Amino acid sequence: MRDTLNAFLHPDLEPIVSGNGPLSGLNLVVKDNIAVQDWPLSAASKILDGYISPYDATVIKKLRAAGVTLSGKTNLDEFAMGSSTENSAYGVTKNPWNTELVAGGSSGGSAAAVAAGLCDVALGSDTGGSIRQPAAFCGVTGFKPTYGSVSRYGLIALAPSYDVIGPIARTAAEVEKVFAVIAGQDPLDQTTIDYTYEPTAVDFAKLRVGLPTDLWRLDIDPEVKEANQRFVDWLKAKGATVVDVTLPTAPQALNAYCIILPAETSANLARFDGIRFQKKAVTEPETLLDRYRRTKALFGAEVKRRILIGTYALSVGHYDAYYQLAVTIQGQVIREFEDAFQSVDVIINPTTPTPAFKIGEKANDPVAMYQCDLLTVPADLGLVPAISLPVGFTKSGLPIGGQITAAQTKDNLVLALAKAFQAETDFHTKKPSGDFHG
Ligand code: GLN
Repeated sequence: MRDTLNAFLHPDLEPIVSGNGPLSGLNLVVKDNIAVQDWPLSAASKILDGYISPYDATVIKKLRAAGVTLSGKTNLDEFAMGSSTENSAYGVTKNPWNTELVAGGSSGGSAAAVAAGLCDVALGSDTGGSIRQPAAFCGVTGFKPTYGSVSRYGLIALAPSYDVIGPIARTAAEVEKVFAVIAGQDPLDQTTIDYTYEPTAVDFAKLRVGLPTDLWRLDIDPEVKEANQRFVDWLKAKGATVVDVTLPTAPQALNAYCIILPAETSANLARFDGIRFQKKAVTEPETLLDRYRRTKALFGAEVKRRILIGTYALSVGHYDAYYQLAVTIQGQVIREFEDAFQSVDVIINPTTPTPAFKIGEKANDPVAMYQCDLLTVPADLGLVPAISLPVGFTKSGLPIGGQITAAQTKDNLVLALAKAFQAETDFHTKKPSGDFHG
């Protein structure tokens, strides 16, 4: 698929139409860190340039069996590291609402493709917010399922203890249809759980909603906060009980993530050594070391930064001070979510601290870029399901995302509440103007 947003990679791919099934006719695109047999798989990295996947990811197998049409592969930050898709080796994806702005990341191509009407549903992956943050920036619905409910087989690993594949679509109803197909235990991924998706309905009279004061009090753009407050007002008007809850460690989740993710990724990226996957990337190396050196030089700056941070955090003398401490923080995050979900059914807070920002604005400031994940990372460390859905617009017309989180395996409640909101509001029906076909 060709487009003017640079949402798609490998634009010459021919769509693959599958047989009849419950999702027949659904036009689905795939983030280019998920394997589709005989299609390129680049992770938006030069290091995988020209690599063709020899097999299907489990999610792709299931979606083919359900009858979807696979119509392309979408852009991302290299190896899914980033919050703006600016780290792609193949250029930035533009936000369809304003092409001077980023689409978010790392699943920026997926979110932009849905928002621009170039597909019905896109698959993304979420490790620290990569489904929800771009969904919020592009005014669409993005769902990060419970960790382990969807197989990671065929997803290029970023941080396997958080990585999860999930759908992005205009509506929660479409997201749910795809999630119901891809969810379930897989013998090829030992971290998957015994799981079958069963839809539910929301009983507002019994619904207990928690507002995590520790997150709401962080530095959040006033327009983003107000739109989310109106979402909470809607919940109250529906009869839900709304109370404050505490997640005292959640604001520290990002710090822990910024250690654990590089630690895991530094180990995972070791396999890209110029021998197993992309022998042709380096021609006529003089020695084995020369091959390694020239291959690794193909990684982009952010990837190299994380390999360096990760190996440092895991090294003798630093392991306890960094990695072990980060893992302890994660344990606390998990326990605090479990405690909170004793007294409430769902937790609501904004998806992102700000709406979409200008291309280039944060590109040279890694810490500012990491801050984009402040409100999404807690659900990743907590292993809990979370959705971002459109809850309003800024005065300048940019979409704003709101986030619903529930306890592990309560994916159905998250989706049911998002569907109920969308049945009574029209934020998700608004579309950016312009024809984005290339
Ligand atoms: N933006 C986050 C990061 O850079 C999230 C990545 C992700 O979820 N894949 O790590």
